Amino acid sequence: MASAYCVKCRTKREIKDPKNVTLKNGKKAVTGTCPVCGTKLFKIGG
Ligand SMILES: [Zn+2]
Repeated sequence: MASAYCVKCRTKREIKDPKNVTLKNGKKAVTGTCPVCGTKLFKIGG
C-alpha cells in the first residue's frame, strides 16, 4: 500500500484509491486521497 504525507493531518497516511500517473517531466507518481480527511495526496515515485 502506498503512503504519502497528508498536509492536513500532518502525518503519513495510506493513499486511498491510488492512481499511477506520469508527470510532465517523465517521473512516475501516485495520487489519491487521504482516507481520514479526504485531502488529495501525492507521492513521487510509484
Ligand atoms: Zn488527511
